Amino acid sequence: MTFPITDRTPIRFPGPPPADADVVVIGGGVIGVMTAWFLRDQGLRVTLCEKGRIAGEQSSRNWGWVRQQGRDPAELPIMVESMRIWQRLAQEIGPGLGFRQTGVLYLADSVAQMARYEGWLPHARANGVDTRALSAAQVAALLPQAARTWTGGLWTASDARAEPWVAVPTLAQAAARRGVTLVESCAVRALDIAAGRVAGVVTEQGRIRAGRVVVAAGAWSRLFLGAHGVRLPQLSVLATVAATAALPSVFDGAATDSAFAFRRRADGGYTLAPSDHHDFFPGRDALASLRAFWPVVQQDWRHTVLHPFAPKGFPDAWSTPRRWSPDAATPFERCRILNPAPNGRIIQRLRDDFALRFPALGRPPLTAAWAGMIDTLPDVVPVVDHVAAIPGLTVATGMSGHGFGIGPGMGRVVAALVTGTDPGHDLSRFRLARFSDGTRLRPGPSL
Ligand SMILES: Cc1cc2nc3c(=O)[nH]c(=O)nc-3n(C[C@H](O)[C@H](O)[C@H](O)COP(=O)(O)OP(=O)(O)OC[C@H]3O[C@@H](n4cnc5c(N)ncnc54)[C@H](O)[C@@H]3O)c2cc1C
Repeated sequence: MTFPITDRTPIRFPGPPPADADVVVIGGGVIGVMTAWFLRDQGLRVTLCEKGRIAGEQSSRNWGWVRQQGRDPAELPIMVESMRIWQRLAQEIGPGLGFRQTGVLYLADSVAQMARYEGWLPHARANGVDTRALSAAQVAALLPQAARTWTGGLWTASDARAEPWVAVPTLAQAAARRGVTLVESCAVRALDIAAGRVAGVVTEQGRIRAGRVVVAAGAWSRLFLGAHGVRLPQLSVLATVAATAALPSVFDGAATDSAFAFRRRADGGYTLAPSDHHDFFPGRDALASLRAFWPVVQQDWRHTVLHPFAPKGFPDAWSTPRRWSPDAATPFERCRILNPAPNGRIIQRLRDDFALRFPALGRPPLTAAWAGMIDTLPDVVPVVDHVAAIPGLTVATGMSGHGFGIGPGMGRVVAALVTGTDPGHDLSRFRLARFSDGTRLRPGPSL
């Protein structure tokens, strides 16, 4: 069982990169690709550098949920816009994205959980989202083949799914046709800084002059920024996912209860994941950020299993250097694609979890299993901001486990930020300075 995008996947955009650009984007995940897309729409010359393969990390390893439901109130208006952009992209690009509005369903195991779900409804109403609270009988009507019952549910029929293995690579190809220059296997080693501001980047394939740079480096952003003295309290957890072979339909959308999440894929299989388990490999960064993460640790410790050492090459491995010379290979080239081993015990559990809920189908055969490192910030919302200390530098990272769905909308917002036009949304919750100016960090809703 292998995961489709690895460092053996053929390079589609070999470069070399140009010597000049208006903007360089670091990172070819959904945030980088969509930021580049919207910058190009404004007529700018954009070069995107990806150290491995487009969408090789989180952006192809995720569950494929495109959800408004349960979002932090500050993210929700951007997500509503993102849904409109997904709709437009699906019309323009066709079925390749696998985008379908088949709904997202949260299943409540208790009255207390149902009350938390209902507590989110005012945010839906304020943003015109069609979320509804469901009774146990209404849930049973949506899942007629389920062998168990739930107290109730939260249901957003307009929420969607898309196919992560193909969606972002397909968007990247469309971006290239629109004039974005993409270069894979091209790690950015460092910023080129002159007279105190961004003058470009130093890549493993040479220097690119550019007055503006966007860091959309996912789980590597802390390492990259830290080398330039920019502090970002970002950590990552390992999440295991499995794909079943095609099965008779039990539900066409995406659903989760407090232990198990599943989503119907375009190929008729289901993508399965635990909703109550992450593996965590603390390194130096984790120790340094323990205090900042304490509120989330208190909320989530039951679901997080600690392992003593991060595997070699991980951004927060003890052996990963925090400083390097731009003249030699850096940690970014040494780990082209963060492709951690999935948790074998969880993979087996997922088959049991599926069979428990849908016994008529039994333990499903799996066609793939993989893991991804989810990058997160202490308040579980991203940083989308300029770096005041380094004019010309913008950061868009820390999507905290829900950046796939919001990616297109976030790309539009980041592009506006870079060009100094009105982003159209209040971005104050996403300020970088919140980690240093005494702001009390509030984690987003935990439903
Ligand atoms: C298992 C799992 C399930 C998830 N489920 C969902 C879901 O259902 N719905 C949802 O909305 N979100 C989900 N997410 C979260 C979502 O996938 C991420 O938030 C989103 O993909 C982040 O996009 P990104 O572009 O910020 O980062 P990434 O996709 O990680 O991309 C960052 C890229 O930057 C590159 N890079 C790093 N450093 C450098 C450098 N120095 N030079 C060049 N390139 C560099 C990396 O190689 C990487 O490709 C899930 C994530 C995981 C792992």
